[in-house]
This record gives sequence, C-alpha cells and structure tokens, in this order.
Amino acid sequence: MHTLRLLGVNLLSAVAAAFAVPGSVSAQSVWIRDVTIVSPQLAAPMPDMHVLLNDGRIREIGAAPSAAAQAADDIIDGAGQFLMPGLIDSHVHLRNVPGLLDSHAKAHPDLDRIGRAQIPRSYLYYGFTSLVDLVGAADYVGEWNDLEIRPDVHWCGGAPVANGYPSAFFPPELRFRILPYSLWDAGQGAEVPEGIDPAAQTPEAVVKRMKADGAICVKTFYEPGFGGRRDWPTPPADLVRRLVEAGHAEGMPVLIHANSQEAQGFALETGADIIVHGMWHWNDNERAEQPPQVAELLDDIASRGIGYQPTMQVIYGERDLFDEPFLDDPEFADAVPAELIAWYRTDEGKWFRDRLAGPRGLPDDPSSVNAAPINRLKQTVAKIADSDARLLFGSDTPSAPIYANSHGLNGLLELRALADAGINPARLFRAATIDNARAFGLDREIGTIEPGKAANLLLLGENPLESVKAYDSIEKVILHGRILDRATLSAR
Ligand SMILES: [Zn+2]
Repeated sequence: MHTLRLLGVNLLSAVAAAFAVPGSVSAQSVWIRDVTIVSPQLAAPMPDMHVLLNDGRIREIGAAPSAAAQAADDIIDGAGQFLMPGLIDSHVHLRNVPGLLDSHAKAHPDLDRIGRAQIPRSYLYYGFTSLVDLVGAADYVGEWNDLEIRPDVHWCGGAPVANGYPSAFFPPELRFRILPYSLWDAGQGAEVPEGIDPAAQTPEAVVKRMKADGAICVKTFYEPGFGGRRDWPTPPADLVRRLVEAGHAEGMPVLIHANSQEAQGFALETGADIIVHGMWHWNDNERAEQPPQVAELLDDIASRGIGYQPTMQVIYGERDLFDEPFLDDPEFADAVPAELIAWYRTDEGKWFRDRLAGPRGLPDDPSSVNAAPINRLKQTVAKIADSDARLLFGSDTPSAPIYANSHGLNGLLELRALADAGINPARLFRAATIDNARAFGLDREIGTIEPGKAANLLLLGENPLESVKAYDSIEKVILHGRILDRATLSAR
C-alpha cells in the first residue's frame, strides 16, 4: 500500500554533496578479535573467534588469529560482543522523505534536503546494510549507491497493469512515464495512450528492459482498491503468469502486492514467488476469528515455499500517526532530524493523518485505529509463526506518506512487531539475513559471515538469536569493511 509520487526533485545529489568526504579511505584490513559469531548457517554461535576483513570482504575466520590478522591496520576487541551479518530490508521506497509531498518539499526545501541526507544514515544506524527498493529506477538507485556512506541498494522494476494500482494515482498521460514497466492489458478496452506501443508493454518486453536497466526483481500488484476506492482494474491471471515466466527466464523473482484473501489466492494461482504484505482483509471481514479457508490458503502458501513479507508496519504506521507521543520517542530523534520532527508536529505536517481520519475526524482513542485489520494481520502472522512458511523480512518503508514509517527505525519497529506476533528471534534473524539474500539472489555476497562475502556486519552487545532486543544493542556497523560507530549515524 504505497503511494508513488511524481517527483521533480533530484533527491540524492544533495545527499551526495553532504557525505562525499574527500580523502577518507576505509581501513585496508581489520582484525576483530575474541568475538562471538552469530550467523544463520551455524548451528550455534561460535565464541572466541578471530575475523580478518580486508578490502571490504571477510577474508579469514579462525579460532586463533593468523599472522595476517595480527598485522591488520585496525584491531577491534570483540570480547563479550556478537558479530552478525548486516540486516537486509527487502521492502523499502527510498525516493521520498516520509510525509513530504512535492508541494511540501518545494515549500520547505531545507527540510527536504535535511531529511534526505539522513535517510542512508538512519538505515545504517538501525543495522540495515542492504535494501531492496521495490519500485526502483536506475537513475536514483545509481546516485544512492555512489554515496560513500549508505546501505547497498538493489531494486525491482514495478510492473503494474496500466490504469490499475498504483498507476491509477497518476494522470493518464503520465502513467507510463512514471511507471515505464507498466503492462498493457488490451482486455480493459482502454484507449492506448499517445506514444505508447503495446508491444513494448508486454510482460516479456518490460522484464527484458528492467533487467537491462539493472533491476534484480519484478514487482506487480493485485489491488482492487482501498480508502473508499474499489474500482481499480486488476491484472488478468494469464498476464501475471506470463510475467512470472518472463521473470524466471531472466533469473528474477516476481513479487506481488497482495494484502487480502482474494489477492493472495490470486498470487498462489499465478505462481508469484513472493507475497508482499500480510493479509489484513478476508473475504468475510465481519468475522473476528480467522476463517478456515484463510488458514488453508496460508498453509498452501507455506507448502509451496512462497516468500511472505507481513509488513505489519503498514497498518501500525497509520495508527501511529494518531498517537502524538510517537513524535517524542527518543528512537524517533535518532532516525529523524529535529527540524523535520518539528514540522511533523504542525498542522501542515499532519496532512496525511487528517486525510486518513476523513470527515469523521480524530478518534477519541488513538489505539482503536485500524483495530480490525490489526486483528486479522496478527492472526495471519501467528499462523505463519506456526508453519514453516518462507518468511522474508520487509518493512515497506514508507508504505504511504506516513512519517511514522521513518527510514531505518521502521525496520526495527517491524522486527519488534513480528516478534510480538509470535515469530521467534532465530527465525526473524534468518528472515532478515540469509533468507532475504537467497530470495533476491544475493547470497553469494551477503546474508552470512563466511570468507569471501562482503564485510557488511554488525557488532552487538547482545545475542540476536535470544531476543529481538539485541537489535537495540548495536555498537558498530561495518560497511564494506569500514567501521562506523553507531552514534555517528544518529540524526541527533
Ligand atoms: Zn511498498
């Protein structure tokens, strides 16, 4: 459930200017001594280990330090600490500062600039060293990856059916410009827009094009409507089946936006690889208890090995907009610059909350917001927790122009929400490391601590296999072998 925005702002050049530190070079080699390694391929944590990083990669892991380790440029004493692979959030949208529309960014260019500059640092602050932007584009992802201090970003090409969600948010003449990999469905009976060749908007053609542009995955959508809209066209099943086939021919997983029983049934029927969003609508929303047909559907999703991203923060983030103390949380101040928080407190900054509230106005009890979808979503995640479904970690940050879905922090809130809903810490750890890496074909580079992989690592005071609280104890973030003290990444 995310709103794409037409943006004329060149977001990342401002960030690049802020962080290009001339002459700063990462250490050539680092010896991390006496550390406990926690990595998903290991049956148990390995205490008292010695790890050598060199040239941005993990070079050696041993019970005793090698001569090369002892000669390293830098030494980190890891005694009493845990070393884990950097977290992977496989569902973000990096184009925008949450809550700022183009009109706000134009009216407050400083806020937009300050907000953007903090985005990469906030992901790192909360331990995310790799991200997947699910509706990305070569230009801004390229600019992001040119920054010196930022998580690595990969992207999916967004292939919605034209005139359906999210294409329908934009004026007809802009739909293909904003979503160039849109699929043309002649069955809609719509007129072909000027300058568009339907032969260039087939599943096969758009997948080839996005692959050539640098995408590693395909994202499509099944969304008949929300927020009072129920009239969006959805893609026909055969079109999505072709998209899945075309994606697989190029070695790319196909993700589908699907947050209802109907949509997730469609995902199963069309062979999509990864379901994006938990199920917060059933065919019968009057029921408070999960219907047996829903449980069966989730069992089928599990047994077919389909990846599942519950994205609980989509629903919680909307609720948190109504919760004034959210803005006072010290964690929010680490993620978001003070100037921007001050703006979120203004009436103008609360525009999206007011839009969600609609003519009914603000609720008396903010905790009642989204109570019914939260109930359905929690039962969905409880069912996933009880099954061997292929859980994948993705926060959908931001899912809409929601300041409560702040970059980086929202990932931590998603980890906590999943833990609260019954996912055990070891499973959560896998979902946010190796399982995400495998799902996106990145496991040769990241996802575990093994020689040869990228040195994207976290040093923590607590064991992430024991409690989700361990993610509060990150002390150092290691980015391609470069050691960053966590505190230097805070927005404060
Ligand atoms: Zn999204």
